[in-house]
Amino acid sequence: MTRYVIANWKMHGGLQRNAEFFKQWHGSVHSSIRVAICVPFPYLAQLSQLSAALPAHAPVEWGAQDVSEHFEGAYTGEVSVSMLEDFACSYVIIGHSERRQYHGESSGAVARKLDRVMQSINTALQPVICVGEHLSERESGSVETVLAEQLDPVLAVLKVHPHRQALLAYEPVWAIGTGVVATPEEISETHEWIAKYAYSALGRELPILYGGSVKPDNAAGIIELPHVDGFLVGGASLKMETFIPLLDCATSIAKL
Ligand code: PEP
Repeated sequence: MTRYVIANWKMHGGLQRNAEFFKQWHGSVHSSIRVAICVPFPYLAQLSQLSAALPAHAPVEWGAQDVSEHFEGAYTGEVSVSMLEDFACSYVIIGHSERRQYHGESSGAVARKLDRVMQSINTALQPVICVGEHLSERESGSVETVLAEQLDPVLAVLKVHPHRQALLAYEPVWAIGTGVVATPEEISETHEWIAKYAYSALGRELPILYGGSVKPDNAAGIIELPHVDGFLVGGASLKMETFIPLLDCATSIAKL
């Protein structure tokens, strides 16, 4: 079974800093693990070069953190699907909570972006669709209502593209960048609910990643949970000393 470790570097990085990061790369990547780094747009070309220079036993893919819902045109500041394809991106994060929160992205807009990715003839670009509730929503017992509202429009798009790969990422907003990780019970229960909800809409399974303060000291307890197919990682992906242990952790479960 494939496991994913996908890094979201957010607005971090720099030409020199990225090169330094890759210089420290060591170890190998198990064949059943897909590792990718989603960087700010200006660094996509550099990532493709840095990855190409890694040994064959340590493949690292790359991706973007957002994409336009439009094909092309007068949309200042936007980046299209075909532009991501020009840089051979394997992944694009869609609907990250920081996009929803700071850029007012609605679930409808998230679905339109997804639809644009799905319309592309190139099937190599996989969307990583983020969903997750705020703390007040968890405390008020409305997690499932919130997740259903976020999932319904994206599942409707995925339903008309049954042969296209897509990943979901459950990222409780209150756990992102806060150091507070959801408990194994919360993760298990929510991943199981998402898996069943997606299956009943699509009739097929989608990989579901967990994201929210994943660190070397909590990763092992998360990756072993049912319906957890990997991590979407922010902070811990910025330094090799915290990123490599996450790969090791995914490897140990992949070997079982
Ligand atoms: C994220 O931004 O998707 C994320 C999970 O961040 P962090 O790991 O820093 O909580």
